[in-house]
Amino acid sequence: MARVVSGGKPPVTLATDVTYLKGAGPAIATRLRALGIERVQDLLFHLPSRYEDRRRIVPLVELRDGDEALVRGRVVGADVRFAGRRSLRVVIDDGGSSLLLRFFHFNDTQKQAFTEGRWVRAYGTVRTGANGLEMVHPEYRVADDPAQLPPDTALTPLYPLATGVTQQRLRGLIQQALQAAARDPAFLAELPGLAPPDTLSALRVLHEPAGTDLGDLLLQRHPAQLRLLREELLAHQLCMRLLRRRTLAQPGARVEHVLPASARLQETLPFALTGAQRRVIGEIAHDLASGKPMLRLLQGDVGCGKTVVAAAAMLGCALGGLQAVLMAPTELLAEQHAHNLTAMLNAVGVEVGMLSGRMKKAEREAALARALRGDIRVWVGTHALFQSDVRFARLGLVVVDEQHRFGVGQRLALRDKGPRGVTPHQLIMSATPIPRTLAQTLYADLDVSVIDELPPGRSPVQTVALSNERRPEVLERIGEACRSGRQAYWVCTLIEDSDQLQAQAAEETYRQLRTELPELHVGLVHGRLKSPEKDAQMRAFQNGATQLLVATTVIEVGVDVPNASIMIIDNAERLGLAQLHQLRGRVGRGTAASQCVLMYQAPLSEAARTRLEVMRTTHDGFKIAQHDLELRGPGELLGRRQTGLIGLKIADPVRDAEQIPGLQKLADRWLSASQAEARIVIARWVGDAEKYAQV
Ligand code: ADP
Ligand code: MG
Repeated sequence: MARVVSGGKPPVTLATDVTYLKGAGPAIATRLRALGIERVQDLLFHLPSRYEDRRRIVPLVELRDGDEALVRGRVVGADVRFAGRRSLRVVIDDGGSSLLLRFFHFNDTQKQAFTEGRWVRAYGTVRTGANGLEMVHPEYRVADDPAQLPPDTALTPLYPLATGVTQQRLRGLIQQALQAAARDPAFLAELPGLAPPDTLSALRVLHEPAGTDLGDLLLQRHPAQLRLLREELLAHQLCMRLLRRRTLAQPGARVEHVLPASARLQETLPFALTGAQRRVIGEIAHDLASGKPMLRLLQGDVGCGKTVVAAAAMLGCALGGLQAVLMAPTELLAEQHAHNLTAMLNAVGVEVGMLSGRMKKAEREAALARALRGDIRVWVGTHALFQSDVRFARLGLVVVDEQHRFGVGQRLALRDKGPRGVTPHQLIMSATPIPRTLAQTLYADLDVSVIDELPPGRSPVQTVALSNERRPEVLERIGEACRSGRQAYWVCTLIEDSDQLQAQAAEETYRQLRTELPELHVGLVHGRLKSPEKDAQMRAFQNGATQLLVATTVIEVGVDVPNASIMIIDNAERLGLAQLHQLRGRVGRGTAASQCVLMYQAPLSEAARTRLEVMRTTHDGFKIAQHDLELRGPGELLGRRQTGLIGLKIADPVRDAEQIPGLQKLADRWLSASQAEARIVIARWVGDAEKYAQV
C-alpha cells in the first residue's frame, strides 16, 4: 500500500536500492555493486571478514614491532620533513614512552590539527622505522582532552572492501540497513526449527559486536554465527530441493536406447569399458528410461574416461530420435570433444555438429538451421549454446563437462531449449573430486555417480619438484625423451588471470625453448590464438608432428593426447593443488610411464612447499582434494561459481558438514508445509527466490 510520508522521501526498506541511503551516491553505488551489493538487504549480509580490537589502550612502552594496537598520547612535536618523500611526522607521548606517527598523504587541516599539547587516539600497525617504533598512516582522532578519546566498547568489524569504499563508509551504510531490517515484518518473522538468537539479533552481534566474547566470535563458535550459518545452509538446501522437485515434476523424454548404444560403441572402441564405466552407463540408462528428467552428477578423476560414458548417453538419445548436446567450458575443449565424438560416433553412423563462439555468421546460421531441423542429433559447443537464437528440434539430453566452470543459471538456460513440455535430461560431469559430505551440500539437487576406477595399464605419474636452477638438466632430459619418440607439455603459468599476459609469457617461453632445443619441433597454444591456428597446433601435437607443446593453463581441462608422457609446469609454486592435479592429469593417459616436473622459484613459502610435497606423494584426486580443502577451504577450492547456486557467505560446507542432515530434514518439513518460511529464507540468503521457485 502506498503511503505518503510527510517530509518527502519514503522510508528505506530492505528492497530499496542502496543509492537511497545516506552516504551512498551513484559513484559509491557503482563500487558497492562490485561487492555484490545493490539493495539495502545486501548490506546486511556483507559480513565482516575479521575484527579489530580497539577496546584497550595499549601503553606505548608495551608496543612491539608488528603489533596492531590502539594508542593514546599527547602531541609533543609535529613537523613536515622533505627528506626523500614529503612526510608529516607527529610524536606522541603517554607519560611512559613516545611513538612516531608518520603520514605521507595529508592536507593542511590535518597538519594543523596536531598542535602541541592536544591528544591523539591512533590505531594502526607498529613498525620499526629508522628512529625506533612508528605507525604509518594510522586511523586517528585528535581532541583537546583525553576523556574525549575513550577506547571502543565494541570490536571493530572489518569488511571486504572495494576501491573507493572505506570501512567507515560501509559501517555507516550497514547501520542504516540494520535499522531498515528492524522495521521489516518479514525479517522479524519467527522461523520454526531454528534456535535463537533470531536473524536480526545475530546480524547485530556480527556487525556491532559489543560486549561479545572476541574469542568465540573469532573461532566462529558464537551462537549468532551458528544461527546464521545454519540459516544459510538451509537456504541452500531449500533452493536445491525446490529446483529438484520442480524438475522432477515435469515429464522427461523416455529413452530406452542407452544400453544398446553402449554395446554398439563398444564394438568400435579400441579398448574395453571399465567396470565403473559400465556401471555408470547402467545408472544413466535407468534414469533416461524412467520418464522423469535425469539430474545426475558424474564424478571421476581426470583420465578415468568420462567422455565415453557421455558418448554412450548421447548416442542412446540419438538412436531414440532425440538430440543431445555436450557443453564444454573452453573452445579448445569443445573442439577436442567434437573431434573425439566424431571419431567415436561416425563409426556407428551418427553425425556430430559443432557450435562455437568463433564461427563465421554464415557457418553459424547453417549450424543453427540444422539444430532446429533436428537432422544432426549430437552437438558439441561452448557458452555459444546458451544464446537465445540457438534452438533445438528435440533436445533430450544436456551434458555439461567440467561442471565447475558453469553456473547453475547457465544450466537452467540450456534446459529451456527443449521442445515445450519436455525437460531435457541433465548429466553434469566433474573431474573435481569432492568428498561426500561436500557433494551433499553443493549438489543436493543431483544424484551422484562415481567412476572410481582408472583404465587398466595406467601407472602413476612420477612427480618431482625442481628449482629453476636445474632448468638446464630438465632441458637436456626433455631433448633426450623427445628424440626417443616421446612428447611433452611445457606449461607456463601466471598469477594474473589475464589472457594477454599469459599468452605473452607462453610466447616468450616458446621462443626461448626453440633456441635452447633447436632440434625439436616445438608448438605453442594459448587462449589468444585464432581458432584455426589453435586447432592446427593441437592437431600437430595430437598426430606427433610437434614434440614439445608450450601451453598456458588453457590445457588444464580435458585435453587428451595419450602419447604425451612428460609435463613441465613452470612456476608450479603459484598454482593451487586442484589446478596442478588437473594439469598433471594431461599425462599418464597412455601406457608409457609418465613424468611431471614441477619447476619452482626458490625460496618457497611454507604453503607452496606443502602443496608441492602433496603433489609429489599423492596421485589420488580425492586425497588431493581433501588436502586442498584443509589447506585452502572449500570456497577457494571450488571457486565461487563452483559452490553452485550460492556463494556461501558464512557457512563452510566442510567445517559445518555435521549440520547438513538436520537441516535437510528441516528443509523437507518447511517445503511440505506452506513454503512461506522457505521463501523468506531463500530471499534473504540467495535473493531472486522467485527464479528458483518457478523452475
Ligand atoms: P576424463 O574422465 O578425464 O574426461 P577422458 O574421457 O578424456 O577422461 O579419457 C581419458 C583417456 O582414456 C582417453 O584417451 C580415452 O580414450 C581413454 N579411455 C577411456 N576409457 C578407457 C578404457 N576403458 N580403457 C582404456 N582407455 C580408456
Ligand atoms: Mg574430460
